[in-house]
Amino acid sequence: MKIIMLGAPGAGKGTQAKLLAEKYQIPHISTGDIFRANIKQGTELGKKAKEYMDQGLLVPDELVVDLVVDRVAQDDCAGGYILDGFPRTIPQAEALDAALERSGEQIDRAVDVEVADEHIVSRMAGRRACVGCGATYHIQHNPTKEEGICDHCGETLILRDDDQPETVRKRLDVYHEQTQPLIDYYRAQGKLAEVDGAVPMDEVFDAIVRILGE
Ligand code: AMP
Repeated sequence: MKIIMLGAPGAGKGTQAKLLAEKYQIPHISTGDIFRANIKQGTELGKKAKEYMDQGLLVPDELVVDLVVDRVAQDDCAGGYILDGFPRTIPQAEALDAALERSGEQIDRAVDVEVADEHIVSRMAGRRACVGCGATYHIQHNPTKEEGICDHCGETLILRDDDQPETVRKRLDVYHEQTQPLIDYYRAQGKLAEVDGAVPMDEVFDAIVRILGE
């Protein structure tokens, strides 16, 4: 099963992607996580990506397309995968479709997790990320056992630069301009599934599983 998660930044698509990857036992591929790992390791890709990410802008297509096309060609993706944060532009979607078509494959479903902008800005302000392992939490909806400390690795939690309110508003503008057109793109292919992302996390998950099948 090859799934794409769509939705605004902060809509909860990353959380759902992780849960789905566990349920269906397929890799969860998050381009945001890949970039953050590269930033942490100080790679060239990480240095280039950071310049855009810190401003709430998209990393240029040429830095992300090959990365994902190579990743989904790896053996562990043979049984499917969940793409989270990719594609983010029409050219990225077209490049992915073209690459898959060359090997006779295609995306099965694009799941759009829908949440209103105002809801997202308040949600993101409560988000916290671990500086150590990258795990994400929310001060109200998904708190750590001990405030400010990661449950997994014990490192400190921070509000990521790209989750700062000003950056969030910029990211939402970028989303509406460049990513939202993908909803029509996958609708035209008959692959779009829309779920309400404003309800509790487990209800969103159940709704997605009902669409994808047990
Ligand atoms: P995310 O964790 O998916 O919200 O991604 C964090 C940031 O990484 C985004 O705001 C972009 O700057 C960058 N990014 C992640 N995925 C992509 C993509 N497919 N295309 C362009 N930029 C991306």
